[in-house]
Amino acid sequence: MKTKKGIGVSPGVAIAPAAVIDAEEFDIPERHVPAEMAQGEIARLRKAVSLSKTDILALQKRTGEQIGKETASIFDFHLGLLKDKVLLKKFIDTIMEDHVTSEYAVAAVLRGYAKEFLDMPQYLAERVKDVYDIEKRLLRNLVGQSRQTLQHLDSDRILLAHDLTPSQTAGMDRKHVLGLAIDAGGQTSHTAIVAKALGIAAVVGLNNVTAEATAGTMVIVDGTRGMVIIDPDEKTIAEYRDYSRRQVEFIHSLDALRDLPAVTMDGHEISLLGNIEFPVEASSVIEKGGDGIGLYRTEFLYLGVESEPTEEDHYNAYKEVIDLCKGRPIVIRTLDLGADKQTQSRARTPERNPFLGCRSIRFCLQELPMFKTQIRAILRASVDADVRMMFPLITNLRELRQAKTIVRDVAEDLEEDRVEHRHDIPLGMMIETPSAALQCNAFAQEVDFFSLGTNDLIQYTLAVDRANERVAQLFTAAHPAVLGLIKDVIRAGQRYEVPVSLCGEMGGDVVFTMLLMGLGITTFSCTPPAIPEIKKVVRSVTMEQAVKVARRVMTFDGDQEILNYLRVATREVLPETYISM
Ligand code: PEP
Ligand code: MG
Repeated sequence: MKTKKGIGVSPGVAIAPAAVIDAEEFDIPERHVPAEMAQGEIARLRKAVSLSKTDILALQKRTGEQIGKETASIFDFHLGLLKDKVLLKKFIDTIMEDHVTSEYAVAAVLRGYAKEFLDMPQYLAERVKDVYDIEKRLLRNLVGQSRQTLQHLDSDRILLAHDLTPSQTAGMDRKHVLGLAIDAGGQTSHTAIVAKALGIAAVVGLNNVTAEATAGTMVIVDGTRGMVIIDPDEKTIAEYRDYSRRQVEFIHSLDALRDLPAVTMDGHEISLLGNIEFPVEASSVIEKGGDGIGLYRTEFLYLGVESEPTEEDHYNAYKEVIDLCKGRPIVIRTLDLGADKQTQSRARTPERNPFLGCRSIRFCLQELPMFKTQIRAILRASVDADVRMMFPLITNLRELRQAKTIVRDVAEDLEEDRVEHRHDIPLGMMIETPSAALQCNAFAQEVDFFSLGTNDLIQYTLAVDRANERVAQLFTAAHPAVLGLIKDVIRAGQRYEVPVSLCGEMGGDVVFTMLLMGLGITTFSCTPPAIPEIKKVVRSVTMEQAVKVARRVMTFDGDQEILNYLRVATREVLPETYISM
């Protein structure tokens, strides 16, 4: 049994056998083969080893010719492994003794090898990547086209992967994927956000969990506390089943709040909205007692599809959300493509610093036909509906004005074409860059609403990649610099009577609810599963209490002090919830 600490990004407990997925989405199930088929498996294995050697020799030759001999020599290690008689014997012994397929033997033996390298000095630990590379090549030659993918699992699994893209996560077989344990990633990576929205317990930032288990190994994912337990003993499994049952009971107890308003004990109303990535999620927002959609991440329409969505695709998606919301407000955010939410076609031209590159509104302003298609669809779909349009990642007034002009142009085109459309759609912007937050007074005079995107605001203010596990401990909403910016934006909103909501992950974390209310946030938008707990906090405090909490927090100058204070304060209000200390 081994316990690994990571970052819990989607709460809940899941217990199931592992499926280890590599970058190419191979899942190597532990399939048993009868003894009489062992020789056939060994023949397949020998053929795959031979094919892999041929591949590498060709690759080495090409690299030598194009880049130089020195670089080509990196393949010597790969060839050495494939020629290693001891390794081959291990593969064969595993097939014969454990009665498994050659794929499973390759994966099991090489993962064991990788693990040994990880425990060696740094320069040898680097070899792990080569071992994975060989594993991948052998599997490719063994499995060919018939490999099992994330979309088609045949039984309940915990997925272990080095990394998953948001679209891979979104495309997973939800019936059988009970939990995720991921080497890479941070608290607000989009993969984490999708896992949360799907209600799949997930822990990221585990560094090398994929080297610790093979297919079939029992795994517990504790997304609430950010822990993964590999090969747990019976006692641990029983304890976790009990803990999971209590968690589920607590969550069910919140169902009673569904139809009650989010109002403080002294009568201040708070609006609780949901963030969605896919139209169907609008139903979960309402089921959880949300008042509408505060952030619809429309770029998910682009992820996982080969061709560009048409105006009708956009229109139908928006109409679906509008119909499900039955008159409730909906904030549609224009495309936030780029960085870790890349379009298929754009992925072929990788940027050096994608989070600082051509993402989001910048991409839209360069791809006007695509941007206009989306805006046309929004204006057409929102006739007679409470829809608002929001621009992401604005960093300067010019961008905002350009975007607004494009909306006007599209409306004029629709008018000319005599197509029914919305004439007075409110236009808002995300405040998710330090430049937007620092210039909030100027922006407030040009928009109908603000929404604080704390995921990116934290990333850009603290210079911490939101998806990089190596700096995940530096990514915190409790940093006084972040809180100072949030406070200034709320003040600007009050000064210019521009409503300010908050839609970053911070808004769905109960630890920050009192603080944000006390700072003046009256509209929260968060992942649907978090709505009931936030409502519970709102209904358990007075505004006076929240203001006191906020005043106190703003006197601290360190994020740890702030977090400690907020955790204690939240526990007093909501003792049943789990808050990691
Ligand atoms: C944010 O940055 O806080 C936000 C809500 O947008 P996204 O997570 O989609 O970048
Ligand atoms: Mg953002």
